[in-house]
Amino acid sequence: MYKSFLIKYAEIGVKGKNRYIFEDQLVKNAQRALDKIDGDFKVRKEYGRIYADANSDYDFDEVIDALQHVFGIAGICPMMQLELVEYDELAKAVVEFVDKVYEKKDFTFKVMSRRANKNYPMDSMELNIELGGAILDAFPELKVDVHKPDVFVNVEIREQINIYSDIIKGQGGLPVGTAGKGMLLLSGGIDSPVAGWMVAKRGVKVDAVYFHAPPYTSERAKQKVVDLAKLVSKYSGEMNLYVVNFTDIQMYIYDKCPHEELTIIMRRYMMKIAEAFAEKEGSQCLITGESIGQVASQTTQSLAATNEVCTLPVFRPLIAFDKQEIVDVSLKIDTYETSILPYEDCCTTFVAKHPVTKPNIERIKKSELNLAEKIDDMMAEAIESAELVKIM
Ligand code: ATP
Ligand code: MG
Repeated sequence: MYKSFLIKYAEIGVKGKNRYIFEDQLVKNAQRALDKIDGDFKVRKEYGRIYADANSDYDFDEVIDALQHVFGIAGICPMMQLELVEYDELAKAVVEFVDKVYEKKDFTFKVMSRRANKNYPMDSMELNIELGGAILDAFPELKVDVHKPDVFVNVEIREQINIYSDIIKGQGGLPVGTAGKGMLLLSGGIDSPVAGWMVAKRGVKVDAVYFHAPPYTSERAKQKVVDLAKLVSKYSGEMNLYVVNFTDIQMYIYDKCPHEELTIIMRRYMMKIAEAFAEKEGSQCLITGESIGQVASQTTQSLAATNEVCTLPVFRPLIAFDKQEIVDVSLKIDTYETSILPYEDCCTTFVAKHPVTKPNIERIKKSELNLAEKIDDMMAEAIESAELVKIM
């Protein structure tokens, strides 16, 4: 029924002279999302408006779903587009639009015209009145309500004419690729996929690293992380996922350091290794799913100890979220069901009964001296041997 969709964007409208960068990226990302579904689509930018045109049959819900995964889109308006026709033909089209879109004629409406093209002989006030009258003539059962109408019939007079009523809510945020790059520490839990999603929502292109500890963690645990990466990438676009074999390092720490410090020391090495991949990808930040107080390794003291090894800024978008708030987002973005699959992650295998909750950085550093002999080589080996999974 609709050949085109008007794509509305909110925040990028205010970016001044860099605006075209945001728009062009949004066009690219929307095109990429639509290329993944059945049908032939073309996303184009014209006079400060972005449109997606369908050049073939398509499934309406699929198009909406695809566009609802693109950050930067505030609203999606299925629309009818006409050449710059004269009033009589416009009125006919508007009546046809209302007839087709609303099978049941039992609502109130208001015509909202905007005349961006000042060459059009009627102004928006005239158009509102005339088109409202034309709709009422065709469907006397309808009523006009200028204050709280059920339906806004939008008519935009530009180089072409756009007619639309529904504005389907988009994800909001900024187009991915307009705000730099980040390296997400992605585990199989609930939190880190949400953290990656949140940062991507601000326009950051996200790649990921997963620390795998075979045979303590299974192939299925790894597959779960790959699946989570795919779910996040549905929003964030292509992603490089580095799977690091962390077993030897973990065992080495286990052998050489006090067990109650194991988690903190392990996490410090995870951060260091993640930084190596960040450098490889040209990322400007690390991203984790940490949240204050969730576990022993996420007290402010523990977070400080983990943070101390990092040279890049570490973004922790969930830092002040309650677990339930995180769960709510994960349900919304569809990662929850995968996250709660029961496969073990590498941190649970070695956790001490009584991990330190207020680690002393000097003491941790002293413990780490026990690793001096081999740890640099082991890190280099872990980085070198990492498997790269391309998530498309
Ligand atoms: P999540 O639900 O994201 O697994 P969590 O509550 O289990 O988090 P931790 O295990 O303490 O918390 O991990 C904190 C953060 O460290 C995670 O959100 C993630 O960013 C990172 N992380 C933990 N384990 C791994 C891993 N095996 N691979 C990559 N990153 C990890
Ligand atoms: Mg975890």
